[in-house]
Amino acid sequence: MRGLIVTSFRVLILIVIFMAGAAATVMAQPSGKGPGTVRIVASFYPVYIMARNVAKNIPGVTVTSLTPSVSGCLHDYAVTVDDLKKLAGADVFIVNGAGMESFLERVITQFPRVRVVPLAEGIPLIYGKGASGPNPHVWVSISNAILEVRSLSVAMEAIDPVHAKGYRKNSDEYILELERLRAQMQSELAPYKGQKIITFHEAFPYFAREFGFEVAAVIEREPGSDPSARELAETVDVIRSSGIRTVFIEPQYPLGAAAAIARETHVRVLTLDPAVNGEDDDGAYIRIMRKNLEGLKDAFSK
Ligand SMILES: [Zn+2]
Repeated sequence: MRGLIVTSFRVLILIVIFMAGAAATVMAQPSGKGPGTVRIVASFYPVYIMARNVAKNIPGVTVTSLTPSVSGCLHDYAVTVDDLKKLAGADVFIVNGAGMESFLERVITQFPRVRVVPLAEGIPLIYGKGASGPNPHVWVSISNAILEVRSLSVAMEAIDPVHAKGYRKNSDEYILELERLRAQMQSELAPYKGQKIITFHEAFPYFAREFGFEVAAVIEREPGSDPSARELAETVDVIRSSGIRTVFIEPQYPLGAAAAIARETHVRVLTLDPAVNGEDDDGAYIRIMRKNLEGLKDAFSK
């Protein structure tokens, strides 16, 4: 069934590309895409916000997100025909990589002319216990987000040299803001180094390492599927034996299992946001991290 859907997507895309080609031939003029125009498509929210910042105010450069912001993490996300239409007109496809975009190989084959820029490349990756691949949530560490913004800028400077100075200026400014944020968080979270945290899904190991926390347990082991009774019992055991008083949920996912754990152990439930969706705004990542800072201080100071 899934194979059939994939095949029909391919046929549809081929038809769309063929029709677009035919229309361009008939009109003899490339429509809507003048010289100096660069269309950037970013795979999902965190890399979309980076691309918005790096391409800010550069004439002729547009940034869109392949997936709707409500999608959250892309674990097992199935690209839609609407998503793929955006790539048909793209010049550059910005992705996180490290396994986050499970559909990447297919997209590369379908759109061989689109330049793919994987931002996590070169970042040392964390492998979890028994995990089949690396943990892809690198951007949740501000240091890694800075590396990704720098990679994005370097790639865009090479792809679109006419606007190289603009990309560099924008990325320098954004990185400066990110460095200030990191310094503020490092100083305000310093008293809580070594604290154990329980997070909703496996999104925080890079964040935890950056600020000296230990992820003692993760509620949802498989993204998108409820924990088994045994896994829930294990998490409850970790809370009881470690004296943890707070469980962190993510705004993208329902309370479900966390509420059950809280009933069982009387821990508080607070929010920690992996910045996988939010407002369509350049400052969104920084605002989300500031909220995370407040949430953590709240959790540990009481
Ligand atoms: Zn995730």
